Formats: sequence, structure tokens, C-alpha cells
Amino acid sequence: MIYLDNAATTALRPEVFDTMIEYMRENYANPSSIYQKAGCAKVAMDVAREKIAKAISADHSNEIFFTGSGSESINWAIKSVVNNTTHGKHIITTKVEHPVVLRTCEFLEKQGFDVTYLPVDEFGMVDAQQVEEAILEGTILVAVMMANNEIGTIMPIAEIGEVIAKVNETRERSERILFFTDAIQAVGHIPVDVNALNVDMLALSGHKFYAPKGVGALYVRRGVKLMPLIHGGGQERGRRGGTENVSGIVGMGYAIDLAMAEMEAEITRQTELRDYLITQILEKIPHSRLNGHPIKRLPGNANITFDFIEGEGMLLMLDFNDIAASSGSACTSGSLDPSHVLLAVGLTHEQAHGSLRLSLGKDTTKQELDKLIEVLPNIVERLRQMSPLWEDYQRNSVT
Ligand SMILES: *Cc1c(COP(=O)(O)O)cnc(C)c1O
Repeated sequence: MIYLDNAATTALRPEVFDTMIEYMRENYANPSSIYQKAGCAKVAMDVAREKIAKAISADHSNEIFFTGSGSESINWAIKSVVNNTTHGKHIITTKVEHPVVLRTCEFLEKQGFDVTYLPVDEFGMVDAQQVEEAILEGTILVAVMMANNEIGTIMPIAEIGEVIAKVNETRERSERILFFTDAIQAVGHIPVDVNALNVDMLALSGHKFYAPKGVGALYVRRGVKLMPLIHGGGQERGRRGGTENVSGIVGMGYAIDLAMAEMEAEITRQTELRDYLITQILEKIPHSRLNGHPIKRLPGNANITFDFIEGEGMLLMLDFNDIAASSGSACTSGSLDPSHVLLAVGLTHEQAHGSLRLSLGKDTTKQELDKLIEVLPNIVERLRQMSPLWEDYQRNSVT
């Protein structure tokens, strides 16, 4: 199979899997216990925590809290801030966030919070000035994703962080605006430095960088009050109950190490492959266009709209050719709603439906892309032959 859906999830690295097995089979002790075997698990978790901290340039490993997913990290970050705050009820986010952020914000709106959903430009970008202008006296939180999971656009997080820091200089310490970023598509793929970005909280998820599913982390800057989302035992320094997923955590630590070591070379390699793929598709298929920013985008992301067709049909025909990809429909399975991200960048419902996300990974080769480039024009052509939209267009362009 040609796997071009690495933004949805990545394959677990075999060497990471081997390490994890050891922590299920031999080092299975509960890290909270006091005998030697437990100490071993605890040390392994500490090492993983340090690796994650180092990968995002956190000042200290105790700013890293392990969670059960990226979704949990996001829920925790946002809900914890609003529970700790009395000086306001206003949240700023964007229209192109991952559904986890959007649904969490909508939930809070029902609890009486006000949320501003910033619009984006044609490339899916917000700028720092928009954030500055949206800040109110009662603003308590800004949540802007670092890199978009659908169209790959990389947001100007450092500039936004600077704007927020400037506003915070005029506020009491207890009334500071906190800045959260969903960096789940970024960590392990492009450089992430929590101090350079000026963020207070950052979410990451293992399965997006070749670690297992069901393990994530939340970075919380020292001094930021963090209320637990999951109450329980004293795990994660009393902030998150539940016996730790030791093997998953160890796996995530190892995977981030490997990703960091390969990052620079992979950025160069994948960017080259991505640009080759985009150029070839746009050249070979008429009425196609690139979504997202042409340059400020994830190295592995290509998102292309083909007018007059349905993405679902495209995915089925690609699958028939053993190629896995995603379309412009919401990723929630069964939903045929057009993607909120593509609508936010100005596409029509029809165009959003005719979009294809191809996300490259560390194992993607040029030969694989060439296979795709070979079959895709025929697939699009065949779907257009069946499309009433195409028929209308042909008729109108003749008359
Ligand atoms: C995958 C993803 C999530 C959800 O992470 P899970 O670990 O799958 O819960 C959230 N935000 C973005 C941008 C993602 O790509």
C-alpha cells in the first residue's frame, strides 16, 4: 500500500515497538510502587519526559505532563484555564482549528464563555494584528494551532506570542492572557521552541510522529496554574490521575528522539517531494489548485482541489489502486459535511468536497508519488465524466 495519510496517523516505528514490548513484558511494574522494578519504570518515564522537554526546548522536564491523547491535552489546557480564571470569560481562537479545539470552545460557550473565532486569509493564515485587535479586557485565553492538519499552513505563532506578551505587560500577573497552541502536527516535524514561540501551553501527540496511539503530552509553563481534568491518584504530580501508560510514554520518548535526529534531513527531503508532487498534479490535471500556503506549510502536506468532482469517489478509486489518502470532508467518519477549514479559506461546498489531502511521511518515496501521479489524472477524468457539475461546465463553456 502507498500510505499518503500521515497527517491522520503514522506507522509505529519497529524499533520503538521493540522498546515498548520490554515495558509491557518485563518492566510492567506500577511506577508508583516502591520496589526496584517500579523504580525502573519511573526512571524510564523521567527519561521520556526529559526527551519531550528537550524536543520543544522547555526549561524543565516538570513542565511536561503525560496524557492519553492529543485530544486530552487540548481539552485539559483549555478547560483548566477557564476553571482557574475569574477575571474574564473571553476566549480567542480561529475558524480552522482541529475539531477538538472547536468542540471544546463550543462546549464552553454553552457554559457562558464568549468565543471569538478569527477568520483566516485565502492561505488559512491568521496574523498577529488580528489577534491583537480581538483582545478584550475579559480575554483570558488565546488558542491558535501551530500547523493546520488539513492544509498544512504554519501559523505565525511567535508573532502572536509577542503581541500577547506585550498586552500582558500592562496587566496584573493574575490577569494575564494565556496562550495555548495545538502543535500536534508540528512536533517531530518542524522546529518547535516554546520560549521562542512565547506559548504558555502546548499540546502534542505521539501517533503523529511514529509513536503509538493513545499517548500525548501537555507542556505547561512553570507558574501557570493547572487544574486536573482527570482527578485521581497522585500521578503526574497530582495533576492527572490514572496509572501511567509506561510503555506508551517510553515509546513516545524514543520516537521523539529519532524524529529530532532526522528532522533537518526530512524537512529537506519531504519538502522537495511535496513540491514535486504539487507541481506534477497541477500541471497534469486541469481545473486543479493548491490549498494552503505555498511556502509556509508543513513539509509533508499537499492539499489540492479538483473542480467538478467528489472527493469520496476519488478516495475509493485511489484505494482500489492501493493508495491511502484523505478528502475534504470532515475526518469524523460517516460525516459528509464539507471541511470547515476549506470553507474558511473561501472554497465553495462543491470545491471543498472535491479536495484531496496527501500527507507524506518519512517512508514516502518518489516512486510512490510517481505511481500516484500516473493514476490520478485518469481517476479525476473518469469522475468528471460522471459529474453533472462537469457536464454543466462543459455545456456553458461551449455556448
Ligand atoms: C491528530 C490531531 C489532534 C488529535 O490528536 P489525538 O492524539 O488523535 O487525540 C488534534 N489536533 C491536531 C492538529 C491533530 O492533527
